[in-house]
Amino acid sequence: MIQNPSPRHIAGLSSLLVALFSSVVVYFFTDDVASIFLNLVVTFLSSYLLFNYLLKQFIYRKIKLIYKNIHRFKTQSSSVTQVLENHNQDPIEEVSKEVMDWMKENRREINQLKEQASYRREFLGNVSHELKTPIQSIQGYIHTLLDGALEDKKVNRVFLNKASKGVDRLVELVEDLTSIAEFESNAVNLDFQKFDIVVLINEVFEIVEQQALNKNVSLKIKKQSPKSYMVWADRNKIRQVLINLIVNAIKYGKKKGFVLIGLYDMDKNLLLEVADDGEGIAKEHLPRLFERFYRTDKGRSRNEGGSGLGLSIAKHIMEAHRQTINVRSTVGEGSTFGITLKKA
Ligand code: ADP
Repeated sequence: MIQNPSPRHIAGLSSLLVALFSSVVVYFFTDDVASIFLNLVVTFLSSYLLFNYLLKQFIYRKIKLIYKNIHRFKTQSSSVTQVLENHNQDPIEEVSKEVMDWMKENRREINQLKEQASYRREFLGNVSHELKTPIQSIQGYIHTLLDGALEDKKVNRVFLNKASKGVDRLVELVEDLTSIAEFESNAVNLDFQKFDIVVLINEVFEIVEQQALNKNVSLKIKKQSPKSYMVWADRNKIRQVLINLIVNAIKYGKKKGFVLIGLYDMDKNLLLEVADDGEGIAKEHLPRLFERFYRTDKGRSRNEGGSGLGLSIAKHIMEAHRQTINVRSTVGEGSTFGITLKKA
């Protein structure tokens, strides 16, 4: 017996039975073998076509109902309509393919929702954890001041300054989070303009000068690099990326080390690299480095005033420009972060 018979199988078998039966009937009227054989073939073929057509019509009507149910759950109805219009093709094959596609799509959507739910949980956990540290510090200093330190001239200003630093840190964190939220909801409009990237690099060097001096780190542009280079991008946003990369190079670089900027011509784009001779980043961290709140050394990053959001924001900015950001690093030798920019 055939397992899972198709409409063709059923039509074939039924037609064979009808053809045999009709041949037996014909045999009673004539013993001309040619006529009996001709009758057998004609009856078989005609009943096969008829059965096949009727079966398909019957099945098609049934599965149309299933389609309608699927259709109610699907956002895109184009493929369903297409199948309904093309019902000349094998409807069973079509419906099973359609149901499989629908199931795959549903499974994909469910997995995506699960991922998003766990992402949200992790994100909330990270945010509250990051906020807790400065809040507890501010709370501690204010309580100490209220408990009497306010009248103690030796410590009152020191404690107030520390509380104020905690507030600055909170503001910074909230600003970074707002930035990320804006990028993720595509609410950021870039202000594209033509500007000289070398001028911007020197501007950023001035902004971070004090931090570099504190660690005796030298800030330089590679000698071979052009003295001027026009690019097409959002100047303020690229400044933010450069500050992030250069501040990181200083923070995670060694004392008396260097931060070296290289500019390389790449057909339609310019490659800008920020290299340091710091501690470097182990290979296993590299794929996750641009994730929000990801740090290779949590304690160290927090001590340096880091939130783990800088690289994630930089990546969002570069993606909004339809450009790239990447990193290569060797532990003990240093790291190089590269961004691409459209030439003007
Ligand atoms: P953070 O505020 O912690 O600096 P970032 O997103 O800017 O956050 O960086 C994420 C992590 O990547 C840092 O905590 C640090 O562990 C690592 N990192 C970034 N830049 C460098 C670098 N130049 N050298 C070594 N490690 C780096």
